[in-house]
Amino acid sequence: MVVSIRKGTDEAQIQNLVEWLKSLNLEIHRSEGEYDTVLGLVGDTSHVDIDLISGLTIVSNVMRISEPYKSANRKFHPDDTVIDINGFKIGGGNFQFIAGPCSVESPEQICSIARDIKSAGANLLRGGAFKPRTSPYAFQGMRAEGLELLEKAKAETGAPIVTEIMDLSHLPLFENVDVIQVGARNMQNFELLKELGKTDKPILLKRGLAATMEELLMSAEYIMAGGNSKVMLCERGIRTFEHYTRNTMDISAIALLKEKTHLPIIADPSHAAGISRMVRPLALAAVAAGADGLMIEVHNDPAHALCDGPQALRPEEFAKIVKEANAIREIMTKF
Ligand code: PEP
Ligand code: MN
Repeated sequence: MVVSIRKGTDEAQIQNLVEWLKSLNLEIHRSEGEYDTVLGLVGDTSHVDIDLISGLTIVSNVMRISEPYKSANRKFHPDDTVIDINGFKIGGGNFQFIAGPCSVESPEQICSIARDIKSAGANLLRGGAFKPRTSPYAFQGMRAEGLELLEKAKAETGAPIVTEIMDLSHLPLFENVDVIQVGARNMQNFELLKELGKTDKPILLKRGLAATMEELLMSAEYIMAGGNSKVMLCERGIRTFEHYTRNTMDISAIALLKEKTHLPIIADPSHAAGISRMVRPLALAAVAAGADGLMIEVHNDPAHALCDGPQALRPEEFAKIVKEANAIREIMTKF
Protein backbone atom coordinates (compact mmCIF):
# COMPACT_ATOMS: atom_id res chain seq x y z
CA MET A 1 0.00 0.00 0.00
CA VAL A 2 1.28 3.46 -0.85
CA VAL A 3 0.21 6.54 1.13
CA SER A 4 0.90 10.05 -0.22
CA ILE A 5 1.12 12.86 2.30
CA ARG A 6 -0.10 16.34 1.44
CA LYS A 7 2.58 18.94 0.72
CA GLY A 8 3.31 21.22 3.68
CA THR A 9 2.24 18.72 6.35
CA ASP A 10 3.84 19.12 9.73
CA GLU A 11 6.68 16.65 10.41
CA ALA A 12 5.16 15.79 13.81
CA GLN A 13 1.90 14.72 12.11
CA ILE A 14 3.78 12.55 9.61
CA GLN A 15 5.65 10.93 12.49
CA ASN A 16 2.37 10.26 14.31
CA LEU A 17 1.02 8.45 11.27
CA VAL A 18 4.27 6.49 10.76
CA GLU A 19 4.27 5.34 14.42
CA TRP A 20 0.65 4.26 14.20
CA LEU A 21 1.28 2.30 10.97
CA LYS A 22 4.31 0.63 12.58
CA SER A 23 2.08 -0.43 15.48
CA LEU A 24 0.06 -2.39 12.87
CA ASN A 25 3.14 -4.55 12.24
CA LEU A 26 4.06 -2.78 9.02
CA GLU A 27 7.44 -1.66 7.82
CA ILE A 28 7.39 1.90 6.50
CA HIS A 29 9.58 3.03 3.59
CA ARG A 30 9.57 6.79 3.38
CA SER A 31 10.58 8.74 0.29
CA GLU A 32 10.65 12.46 -0.25
CA GLY A 33 9.61 13.59 -3.70
CA GLU A 34 9.65 17.10 -5.14
CA TYR A 35 5.99 17.63 -4.28
CA ASP A 36 4.96 14.81 -1.98
CA THR A 37 6.11 12.62 0.87
CA VAL A 38 5.30 9.03 0.04
CA LEU A 39 5.02 6.18 2.56
CA GLY A 40 5.36 2.63 1.27
CA LEU A 41 3.68 0.14 3.62
CA VAL A 42 5.29 -3.29 3.57
CA GLY A 43 3.75 -6.33 5.30
CA ASP A 44 0.26 -7.75 5.65
CA THR A 45 -1.98 -4.82 4.76
CA SER A 46 -5.16 -6.91 4.55
CA HIS A 47 -6.17 -5.63 8.01
CA VAL A 48 -5.52 -1.96 7.17
CA ASP A 49 -8.65 0.13 6.71
CA ILE A 50 -7.95 2.02 3.49
CA ASP A 51 -10.94 4.35 3.98
CA LEU A 52 -9.71 5.35 7.42
CA ILE A 53 -6.29 6.37 6.02
CA SER A 54 -7.77 8.16 2.99
CA GLY A 55 -9.97 10.15 5.36
CA LEU A 56 -7.00 11.66 7.23
CA THR A 57 -6.55 15.35 6.39
CA ILE A 58 -2.78 14.94 5.90
CA VAL A 59 -3.27 12.17 3.30
CA SER A 60 -3.75 13.11 -0.35
CA ASN A 61 -3.96 9.60 -1.84
CA VAL A 62 -3.86 5.93 -0.89
CA MET A 63 -3.25 3.11 -3.34
CA ARG A 64 -3.51 -0.59 -2.63
CA ILE A 65 -0.78 -2.54 -4.42
CA SER A 66 -1.64 -6.02 -3.16
CA GLU A 67 -5.12 -7.55 -2.97
CA PRO A 68 -7.05 -7.30 0.29
CA TYR A 69 -7.80 -11.05 0.32
CA LYS A 70 -5.19 -13.43 1.61
CA SER A 71 -6.60 -16.93 2.12
CA ALA A 72 -8.28 -17.00 -1.29
CA ASN A 73 -5.27 -15.44 -3.03
CA ARG A 74 -3.29 -17.61 -5.43
CA LYS A 75 -0.19 -15.57 -4.60
CA PHE A 76 0.01 -17.24 -1.19
CA HIS A 77 -1.34 -20.62 -2.30
CA PRO A 78 -0.15 -21.30 -5.86
CA ASP A 79 -1.59 -24.82 -6.09
CA ASP A 80 -5.24 -25.32 -7.02
CA THR A 81 -7.49 -26.28 -4.14
CA VAL A 82 -9.11 -29.67 -4.65
CA ILE A 83 -12.40 -30.23 -2.82
CA ASP A 84 -13.56 -33.77 -2.20
CA ILE A 85 -17.32 -34.19 -2.06
CA ASN A 86 -18.00 -37.76 -0.92
CA GLY A 87 -15.27 -39.03 -3.22
CA PHE A 88 -16.07 -36.69 -6.13
CA LYS A 89 -13.21 -34.24 -6.56
CA ILE A 90 -13.44 -30.74 -7.95
CA GLY A 91 -10.57 -28.39 -8.81
CA GLY A 92 -6.95 -29.03 -9.77
CA GLY A 93 -7.92 -30.66 -13.06
CA ASN A 94 -10.97 -32.45 -11.63
CA PHE A 95 -14.25 -31.42 -13.25
CA GLN A 96 -17.81 -32.00 -11.99
CA PHE A 97 -21.31 -31.53 -13.37
CA ILE A 98 -23.91 -30.42 -10.84
CA ALA A 99 -27.44 -30.73 -12.20
CA GLY A 100 -31.04 -30.82 -11.11
CA PRO A 101 -34.17 -28.72 -10.91
CA CYS A 102 -34.35 -25.15 -9.71
CA SER A 103 -36.60 -26.37 -6.90
CA VAL A 104 -37.60 -29.67 -5.39
CA GLU A 105 -41.29 -30.16 -6.16
CA SER A 106 -42.25 -33.74 -5.25
CA PRO A 107 -40.60 -37.10 -4.44
CA GLU A 108 -41.30 -38.38 -7.96
CA GLN A 109 -39.89 -35.23 -9.61
CA ILE A 110 -36.61 -35.09 -7.68
CA CYS A 111 -35.94 -38.84 -7.75
CA SER A 112 -36.65 -39.13 -11.46
CA ILE A 113 -34.42 -36.12 -12.30
CA ALA A 114 -31.68 -37.44 -9.99
CA ARG A 115 -31.65 -40.74 -11.89
CA ASP A 116 -31.61 -38.91 -15.24
CA ILE A 117 -28.75 -36.56 -14.44
CA LYS A 118 -26.71 -39.42 -12.99
CA SER A 119 -27.08 -41.49 -16.13
CA ALA A 120 -26.23 -38.40 -18.22
CA GLY A 121 -22.89 -38.11 -16.39
CA ALA A 122 -23.50 -35.69 -13.51
CA ASN A 123 -22.23 -36.75 -10.09
CA LEU A 124 -23.88 -34.07 -7.95
CA LEU A 125 -27.57 -33.30 -7.57
CA ARG A 126 -28.80 -29.73 -7.12
CA GLY A 127 -32.28 -28.68 -6.03
CA GLY A 128 -33.64 -25.73 -4.10
CA ALA A 129 -35.64 -26.37 -0.94
CA PHE A 130 -35.56 -22.75 0.28
CA LYS A 131 -36.10 -20.48 -2.73
CA PRO A 132 -35.19 -16.79 -2.91
CA ARG A 133 -38.06 -15.51 -5.09
CA THR A 134 -38.51 -11.90 -6.16
CA SER A 135 -42.24 -12.10 -5.43
CA PRO A 136 -43.53 -13.20 -2.02
CA TYR A 137 -46.51 -14.74 -3.88
CA ALA A 138 -44.33 -17.07 -5.98
CA PHE A 139 -43.55 -20.67 -4.90
CA GLN A 140 -41.16 -20.40 -1.96
CA GLY A 141 -39.86 -23.98 -2.07
CA MET A 142 -40.77 -27.06 -0.04
CA ARG A 143 -38.38 -25.94 2.71
CA ALA A 144 -37.55 -28.65 5.30
CA GLU A 145 -39.62 -31.21 3.41
CA GLY A 146 -37.64 -30.41 0.28
CA LEU A 147 -34.39 -31.22 2.12
CA GLU A 148 -35.86 -34.59 3.15
CA LEU A 149 -36.74 -35.34 -0.47
CA LEU A 150 -33.21 -34.47 -1.57
CA GLU A 151 -31.90 -36.95 1.00
CA LYS A 152 -34.25 -39.57 -0.40
CA ALA A 153 -32.95 -38.93 -3.94
CA LYS A 154 -29.39 -39.17 -2.61
CA ALA A 155 -30.16 -42.48 -0.88
CA GLU A 156 -31.49 -43.80 -4.17
CA THR A 157 -28.77 -42.56 -6.51
CA GLY A 158 -25.73 -41.86 -4.30
CA ALA A 159 -25.52 -38.31 -5.69
CA PRO A 160 -24.29 -35.77 -3.10
CA ILE A 161 -26.73 -32.89 -2.57
CA VAL A 162 -26.13 -29.21 -3.35
CA THR A 163 -28.81 -26.89 -1.98
CA GLU A 164 -29.18 -23.26 -0.97
CA ILE A 165 -29.29 -21.88 2.56
CA MET A 166 -31.13 -18.59 2.94
CA ASP A 167 -31.04 -18.00 6.66
CA LEU A 168 -28.64 -18.75 9.48
CA SER A 169 -31.44 -20.19 11.62
CA HIS A 170 -31.89 -23.03 9.08
CA LEU A 171 -28.30 -24.29 9.46
CA PRO A 172 -29.21 -27.26 11.75
CA LEU A 173 -31.49 -28.56 8.97
CA PHE A 174 -28.48 -28.74 6.60
CA GLU A 175 -26.64 -31.44 8.54
CA ASN A 176 -27.04 -34.04 5.78
CA VAL A 177 -26.46 -31.60 2.92
CA ASP A 178 -23.13 -32.21 1.16
CA VAL A 179 -22.57 -28.76 -0.39
CA ILE A 180 -24.22 -25.64 1.00
CA GLN A 181 -25.02 -23.08 -1.67
CA VAL A 182 -24.97 -19.38 -0.86
CA GLY A 183 -27.14 -17.69 -3.46
CA ALA A 184 -26.40 -14.51 -5.36
CA ARG A 185 -28.71 -12.52 -3.11
CA ASN A 186 -26.84 -13.63 0.00
CA MET A 187 -23.28 -13.24 -1.26
CA GLN A 188 -22.74 -10.35 1.13
CA ASN A 189 -24.73 -11.69 4.06
CA PHE A 190 -21.60 -11.50 6.16
CA GLU A 191 -23.10 -13.01 9.34
CA LEU A 192 -24.18 -16.05 7.32
CA LEU A 193 -20.72 -16.31 5.71
CA LYS A 194 -19.03 -16.13 9.12
CA GLU A 195 -21.18 -18.98 10.47
CA LEU A 196 -20.50 -21.10 7.36
CA GLY A 197 -16.82 -20.47 8.01
CA LYS A 198 -17.21 -22.41 11.26
CA THR A 199 -18.62 -25.49 9.51
CA ASP A 200 -16.59 -28.05 7.59
CA LYS A 201 -19.05 -28.32 4.69
CA PRO A 202 -18.03 -27.38 1.14
CA ILE A 203 -19.64 -24.06 0.22
CA LEU A 204 -20.77 -23.04 -3.26
CA LEU A 205 -20.63 -19.25 -3.20
CA LYS A 206 -22.52 -17.57 -6.05
CA ARG A 207 -21.53 -14.17 -7.36
CA GLY A 208 -23.95 -11.38 -6.38
CA LEU A 209 -26.11 -9.77 -9.05
CA ALA A 210 -23.97 -6.65 -9.09
CA ALA A 211 -20.82 -7.85 -7.36
CA THR A 212 -17.30 -7.26 -8.60
CA MET A 213 -14.87 -10.16 -8.71
CA GLU A 214 -13.00 -8.65 -5.78
CA GLU A 215 -16.20 -8.49 -3.74
CA LEU A 216 -16.84 -12.16 -4.53
CA LEU A 217 -13.30 -13.02 -3.41
CA MET A 218 -13.74 -10.98 -0.22
CA SER A 219 -16.92 -12.95 0.54
CA ALA A 220 -14.96 -16.18 0.06
CA GLU A 221 -12.40 -14.67 2.42
CA TYR A 222 -15.11 -14.29 5.11
CA ILE A 223 -15.79 -18.05 4.98
CA MET A 224 -12.10 -18.95 4.86
CA ALA A 225 -11.16 -16.58 7.70
CA GLY A 226 -13.46 -18.65 9.92
CA GLY A 227 -11.45 -21.79 9.14
CA ASN A 228 -13.41 -23.35 6.28
CA SER A 229 -11.27 -23.45 3.16
CA LYS A 230 -13.65 -25.61 1.12
CA VAL A 231 -15.09 -22.80 -0.96
CA MET A 232 -16.12 -22.93 -4.63
CA LEU A 233 -16.93 -19.74 -6.50
CA CYS A 234 -19.78 -19.62 -8.98
CA GLU A 235 -20.19 -17.25 -11.91
CA ARG A 236 -23.93 -17.08 -12.59
CA GLY A 237 -24.23 -13.93 -14.65
CA ILE A 238 -24.34 -10.33 -13.52
CA ARG A 239 -26.90 -7.61 -14.05
CA THR A 240 -26.09 -5.23 -16.90
CA PHE A 241 -28.03 -2.85 -19.16
CA GLU A 242 -28.81 -5.81 -21.46
CA HIS A 243 -32.38 -7.09 -21.27
CA TYR A 244 -32.50 -9.75 -24.00
CA THR A 245 -31.00 -12.15 -21.44
CA ARG A 246 -31.87 -12.47 -17.72
CA ASN A 247 -28.26 -11.66 -16.77
CA THR A 248 -24.98 -11.30 -18.64
CA MET A 249 -22.66 -14.29 -18.32
CA ASP A 250 -19.23 -12.94 -17.41
CA ILE A 251 -16.98 -15.47 -19.14
CA SER A 252 -13.96 -13.27 -18.48
CA ALA A 253 -14.57 -13.71 -14.74
CA ILE A 254 -13.95 -17.45 -15.09
CA ALA A 255 -10.55 -16.96 -16.72
CA LEU A 256 -9.59 -14.08 -14.45
CA LEU A 257 -10.69 -15.70 -11.19
CA LYS A 258 -8.56 -18.73 -12.11
CA GLU A 259 -5.57 -16.38 -12.05
CA LYS A 260 -6.51 -14.58 -8.85
CA THR A 261 -7.52 -17.55 -6.73
CA HIS A 262 -6.75 -21.23 -6.17
CA LEU A 263 -10.41 -22.00 -5.39
CA PRO A 264 -12.46 -24.05 -7.89
CA ILE A 265 -14.65 -22.00 -10.24
CA ILE A 266 -18.08 -23.28 -11.23
CA ALA A 267 -20.14 -21.79 -14.06
CA ASP A 268 -23.93 -21.61 -13.93
CA PRO A 269 -25.14 -20.84 -17.48
CA SER A 270 -28.80 -21.44 -16.54
CA HIS A 271 -29.27 -18.36 -14.36
CA ALA A 272 -26.90 -16.36 -16.56
CA ALA A 273 -29.11 -16.37 -19.64
CA GLY A 274 -32.46 -17.44 -18.24
CA ILE A 275 -33.22 -19.00 -21.64
CA SER A 276 -32.89 -22.76 -22.12
CA ARG A 277 -31.48 -22.60 -25.66
CA MET A 278 -28.65 -20.33 -24.47
CA VAL A 279 -27.48 -22.79 -21.82
CA ARG A 280 -25.51 -24.98 -24.24
CA PRO A 281 -23.36 -22.24 -25.87
CA LEU A 282 -22.66 -20.57 -22.53
CA ALA A 283 -21.84 -23.87 -20.84
CA LEU A 284 -19.35 -24.79 -23.55
CA ALA A 285 -17.80 -21.31 -23.50
CA ALA A 286 -17.37 -21.58 -19.72
CA VAL A 287 -15.61 -24.94 -20.07
CA ALA A 288 -13.30 -23.48 -22.71
CA ALA A 289 -12.57 -20.55 -20.37
CA GLY A 290 -11.31 -22.98 -17.73
CA ALA A 291 -14.25 -23.63 -15.38
CA ASP A 292 -13.81 -26.54 -12.95
CA GLY A 293 -17.46 -27.47 -13.09
CA LEU A 294 -20.88 -26.67 -14.52
CA MET A 295 -24.09 -26.23 -12.58
CA ILE A 296 -27.10 -26.64 -14.87
CA GLU A 297 -30.83 -26.64 -14.18
CA VAL A 298 -32.52 -29.78 -15.50
CA HIS A 299 -36.23 -30.59 -15.27
CA ASN A 300 -38.27 -33.54 -16.51
CA ASP A 301 -41.19 -31.24 -17.39
CA PRO A 302 -39.89 -27.69 -17.89
CA ALA A 303 -43.26 -26.35 -19.06
CA HIS A 304 -44.77 -27.14 -15.67
CA ALA A 305 -41.76 -26.35 -13.46
CA LEU A 306 -42.70 -24.34 -10.35
CA CYS A 307 -39.59 -22.21 -10.69
CA ASP A 308 -37.25 -21.20 -13.58
CA GLY A 309 -38.93 -23.42 -16.20
CA PRO A 310 -37.88 -21.20 -19.15
CA GLN A 311 -34.18 -21.89 -18.48
CA ALA A 312 -34.50 -25.59 -17.61
CA LEU A 313 -33.11 -28.27 -19.90
CA ARG A 314 -34.65 -31.66 -20.48
CA PRO A 315 -32.43 -34.57 -19.34
CA GLU A 316 -31.55 -35.52 -22.94
CA GLU A 317 -30.45 -31.94 -23.72
CA PHE A 318 -28.28 -31.99 -20.62
CA ALA A 319 -26.77 -35.35 -21.60
CA LYS A 320 -25.65 -33.83 -24.92
CA ILE A 321 -23.90 -30.93 -23.15
CA VAL A 322 -22.06 -33.38 -20.87
CA LYS A 323 -20.62 -35.16 -23.91
CA GLU A 324 -19.66 -31.91 -25.66
CA ALA A 325 -18.15 -30.38 -22.53
CA ASN A 326 -16.06 -33.50 -21.94
CA ALA A 327 -14.88 -33.37 -25.56
CA ILE A 328 -13.79 -29.74 -25.11
CA ARG A 329 -11.90 -30.63 -21.93
CA GLU A 330 -10.15 -33.45 -23.75
CA ILE A 331 -9.03 -31.12 -26.55
CA MET A 332 -7.82 -28.58 -24.00
CA THR A 333 -5.58 -31.08 -22.24
CA LYS A 334 -4.21 -32.42 -25.56
CA PHE A 335 -2.34 -29.32 -26.72
C1 PEP B 1 -30.45 -21.10 -7.86
O1 PEP B 1 -29.33 -21.65 -8.02
O2 PEP B 1 -31.54 -21.69 -7.99
C2 PEP B 1 -30.49 -19.65 -7.60
C3 PEP B 1 -31.54 -19.08 -7.04
O3 PEP B 1 -29.39 -19.03 -8.05
P1 PEP B 1 -28.90 -17.50 -7.89
O4 PEP B 1 -28.67 -17.29 -6.42
O5 PEP B 1 -27.65 -17.48 -8.72
O6 PEP B 1 -29.98 -16.62 -8.44
MN1 MN C 1 -33.17 -21.35 -10.45
